[in-house]
Amino acid sequence: MNLFDNFKDPQLCKTLLARIHAELDGELRFMEVCGTHTVSIFRSGVRSLLSDKVVHLSGPGCPVCVTHDSEVAAFLELAGKNAIITTFGDLMRVPGPEKKTLKSAQAEGARVKVVYSPFDALKIAQDNPHDKVVFLGVGFETTAPAIAATVKVAREQGIGNFSVLCFHKLVPPALDALVGDPELQVQAFLLPGHVSAIIGVEPYRFLASKHGLPAVVAGFEPVDILQALYMFVTMRNEGKVEVVNAYTRVVSDEGNPKAVSIMNEVFSSCDALWRGIGLIPGSGLTIRDEYADYDAMRVFDMKLHDVPEIKGCRCGDVLKGKMSPEKCPLFGKACTPASPVGPCMVSTEGSCAAYYKYRI
Ligand code: SF4
Repeated sequence: MNLFDNFKDPQLCKTLLARIHAELDGELRFMEVCGTHTVSIFRSGVRSLLSDKVVHLSGPGCPVCVTHDSEVAAFLELAGKNAIITTFGDLMRVPGPEKKTLKSAQAEGARVKVVYSPFDALKIAQDNPHDKVVFLGVGFETTAPAIAATVKVAREQGIGNFSVLCFHKLVPPALDALVGDPELQVQAFLLPGHVSAIIGVEPYRFLASKHGLPAVVAGFEPVDILQALYMFVTMRNEGKVEVVNAYTRVVSDEGNPKAVSIMNEVFSSCDALWRGIGLIPGSGLTIRDEYADYDAMRVFDMKLHDVPEIKGCRCGDVLKGKMSPEKCPLFGKACTPASPVGPCMVSTEGSCAAYYKYRI
C-alpha cells in the first residue's frame, strides 16, 4: 500500500460520507476553484455519492477557461506577426474571434510550438537567435513563479529575443469578487491545493473575516475532498467560520516564500479581465518595468481590444457557478470535446469537459 492508497480508502470514504449526510443540517453549497478538483470530484465518483443537500458549484479554477476573449485575440494577433509563439498545449484549441484558434493559425503557417515548460521556450529562443520567441503566460499563482524564473534566467544569460505575453491571474481577488455577487449564494470554498502550495493560507483569511465564509485548502484524493466537506459540516454545527489548511502534506501555511519572491521580483499586480466575470481589480500579473524588454505587449507594441464573446457559449455563467454546464443549450450537441464551442469544453480541467466526460 502506498501513501496515496490511504487517501482513496473506500471504508474511510464511506465513513466520511455517512457523517456528512448524518450531521449536515440544511443545504451545503460549496464551490471549488481548481480545475484539478473539478476533475477529481467527478472521476473519483464523489459527486455521484453526495446527497442533493450537498450542492457542488464549479468556480473559475481552470486557467485556460478564465482567459478572456480579448486575451485569446491577442494570442492570435501575435501568431500573425513574425515571431515564434510557444505555449502550453491546452491553449491550442481555445476559440478566439471568428472561431480561429492557435491550432488553425498554425495550420495556416504561423510558427506556433507546444512546450512543456517555459524553459523549453527559452531554449527555442537560444536556438533561433534571429527570431523573436514569445511564451504565452497564462495560469494562476501555480505557474507564474516558473515563468518569472525563466524571465530572470533570460536576463542573466543575455537572451534578448525572448519575451512573455503575460496574462497570469490571481485567485484570492477573484474569490473576493465572486462572493460579492448576491446571486451566487456560496456557503463554503474548497480552496486549490496547487495555488496554495505557492501562496499559503494567509491570502484567503478574508473569506472568513470579511465574508463570514469557511474555506478549506484540500488535496485531490477522494478522502481529501470528503474530509474538507466534513470540516464544513462540523464548522457549521460548532458555529465556527475558519480558513483551514487540510492539505498539510503539500501546503505549508506560509506557502513557498522563494517562489513568491521570484514572482514578485518579475511581476506586479494589475487589474485583469476574466472570462464571464469582467475586470477584477488587482487580480492579474504584469511584467515590471525593470523587465520591460521581456514583456511581449511592449516588445510588439500591443494593446487588448474589445472582441465579441463567443456566440451562444455560457462559459461565463458556468465559471461563476451560476449555471451547470448541462443547462447550456449547446452542451453535448453543438459543443463537445471533439468540437468545442467554448474554452470550458476545450480544457481537460474545464467544467463542461468534466461534465461531458463523466456524466455522459
Ligand atoms: Fe460554452 Fe460549450 Fe460549455 Fe456551453 S457547453 S458553456 S458552449 S463550453
